[in-house]
Amino acid sequence: PPKEVTSLDDVLHEVSVLVKPHFGKGRPADYISELAAVDPMKFGMAVATIEGEDYGVGDADESFSAQSITKLFALGLALNRLGDEVWTRVGKEPSGTPFNYLSQLEQEAGVPRNPFINAGALAITDILLDVVKAPAHLVRDFMGVLAGEPLSIDDAVAKSEMDTAYKNRAIANLMRAQGTITHDPAAVIEAYCRQCAVSITCRQLAKAALPLAAAGYSPVMEESIFPERLTRRLNALLLTCGIYDSVGSFAYRVGLPAKSGVGGGIVAVIPGRAAVAVWSPELDRYGTSVVGVSALEHFSRLTNCSVL
Ligand code: GLU
Repeated sequence: PPKEVTSLDDVLHEVSVLVKPHFGKGRPADYISELAAVDPMKFGMAVATIEGEDYGVGDADESFSAQSITKLFALGLALNRLGDEVWTRVGKEPSGTPFNYLSQLEQEAGVPRNPFINAGALAITDILLDVVKAPAHLVRDFMGVLAGEPLSIDDAVAKSEMDTAYKNRAIANLMRAQGTITHDPAAVIEAYCRQCAVSITCRQLAKAALPLAAAGYSPVMEESIFPERLTRRLNALLLTCGIYDSVGSFAYRVGLPAKSGVGGGIVAVIPGRAAVAVWSPELDRYGTSVVGVSALEHFSRLTNCSVL
């Protein structure tokens, strides 16, 4: 039986011990060369509560590449600015296919299944390009104000992704041909790769996601960022689409709305209570941190915070 734990500091410490056997079971992303160079033994985890407290363990204050976690904030911005019009360009269903899957687009008239797979995120970038010249800066700055500290884009990571973004270019070109991307596909890809290269720490990420746990209110900014209804909808999308094609087993093991990224980060929302961020670079074959999922599974069990 689990040892009795008394505080979030104790929980995080306990989790950091329990995840040890899970190192060495995955591999850092290798299709983005800068990500392949990150120390695979890194592990950080942080919790930010809606009361404004934060807790961290391990490498919680070391920056990592947010990658697809930025898609959550890009979607929030698009929905805040354009409302339901966004849903004419992208769906709300789990894809059941890998994050960079292409062929579904052929069968479904270029409308991506959801905003978190790459095709859907490219549609969101295209939408943001209608309103700003540099969507990556908009997303970086939005995440920064929510985190309470300015964030930066890692140019080396962005460049190394752009060097090999053949699959994402194929997706953007196909969608341009189908009319569901309206800007130059090269500009969409550049903005997308730069957005994915935002660097963030676990502690900053937990704070940035807090409005999703606090009915849209940011305790860091002391103001409301999203309408409450939008927050619930974002959490629904995270729960059903946030972990690509392993979202079912993630719900089974962890039971929280969450978003993963191939930098090894995962952010999870505990509605009404807190946001949790974890980072460890070794990925499973679905592109999700092996140690990260295990850490969240232990955290969810120890704090009894599953929403399911
Ligand atoms: N930049 C990555 C890609 O497009 C994001 C994927 C991810 O983080 O899951 O391949």
